[in-house]
Amino acid sequence: MNKIILLSKRPVGKPTLGDFKFITEEIPVAKDGEILLKTIYVSVDPYLRGRMNDSKSYVPPFELNKPIQSSIIAEIVESNLSGFFRKGDFVIGNLDWKEYQISNGKGLKKVDESESPLSTYLGILGMTGLTAYLGLTEIGLPKAGETIVVSGAAGAVGTVVGQIGKLLGCKVVGITGSDEKVELLKSKFRFDQAINYKTSTDLKEAISKACPNGIDIYFDNVGGDISDAVLSNINKYARLPVCGAISLYNDTEIALGPRLQPIILTKSATMRGFIVSDFYEKFPAAIKQLTIWLKEDHLTNTETIIDGFNNIPQAFLDLFEGKNEGKMIVKI
Ligand code: NDP
Repeated sequence: MNKIILLSKRPVGKPTLGDFKFITEEIPVAKDGEILLKTIYVSVDPYLRGRMNDSKSYVPPFELNKPIQSSIIAEIVESNLSGFFRKGDFVIGNLDWKEYQISNGKGLKKVDESESPLSTYLGILGMTGLTAYLGLTEIGLPKAGETIVVSGAAGAVGTVVGQIGKLLGCKVVGITGSDEKVELLKSKFRFDQAINYKTSTDLKEAISKACPNGIDIYFDNVGGDISDAVLSNINKYARLPVCGAISLYNDTEIALGPRLQPIILTKSATMRGFIVSDFYEKFPAAIKQLTIWLKEDHLTNTETIIDGFNNIPQAFLDLFEGKNEGKMIVKI
């Protein structure tokens, strides 16, 4: 039988396992012009939380009692589609949380296991790697010698932002949620300094100490109190790519923080939100650069791989508990 995961309730606040439902059906058969896909790797991402709300955003909300979708690497196990897609090929696409599914090939891209391990196409050579590279270079505009602070530093986007910052000659300070992650950032990813926001009694002061020359770029993955503490330390002409706000995704009311206008004004700072697809036309060049850095060991890839289809919802929930280092992926 084929397993499928549906969104059964719209979460209120932090999502729970009760918001998901498992069902089974017969494994479908590919007709003429169709391929049968077997799910191999499933990406779980913080932005899926937004799609669980019934509200308008840059992607439409998931429908209740329909399968959840995310980026998936799948193997073509049957092909009745002539030409491009052959049995045994691997593809990536925005697909349903199903063990097996039918596709007509639309929206799918082939990925080559001999070029790079399949899971990397969901992370460092995929959406999160592109987000880090393009958000930092297009909005952060780093120059050698400048100081970059990145929040959510030990995650999929954060680890890549920090490493690229170092490659471009910047000083990099990461903010993350455990002492183990602080050590990992400094030892494995060559961050100059890292701060545990959960144990820091005065985050503003800790950031100021870690950045004696102030902050030129703040790559914001989390928003909220952490970002308030960073913003009080920015330099004149600072650039602030607003990539994510995970600390606020489960809020049921809009939090009131400090008013930012005086800081942005007096520091002549630029704060710019972005969705990675804003830079769509730059994807090929960015992937080329990331691939070179990865092959030449200038970038280290880190993934947290969870085993088993049944564990997809829990892996998603664990993103909000900081249980991942690097890209969170479920292997089927
Ligand atoms: P991560 O791999 O960074 O996983 C999420 C991490 O967020 C957790 O490991 C945890 O780390 C941290 N976190 C969870 N809850 C909180 C909290 N309340 N306060 C502070 N940190 C928290 O995810 P991604 O790298 O995939 O994504 C990072 C951010 O970038 C997200 O906000 C995401 O929505 C955004 N994003 C935006 C894109 C765009 O196009 N703009 C594209 C891709 C991602 P810790 O242990 O450090 O707390």
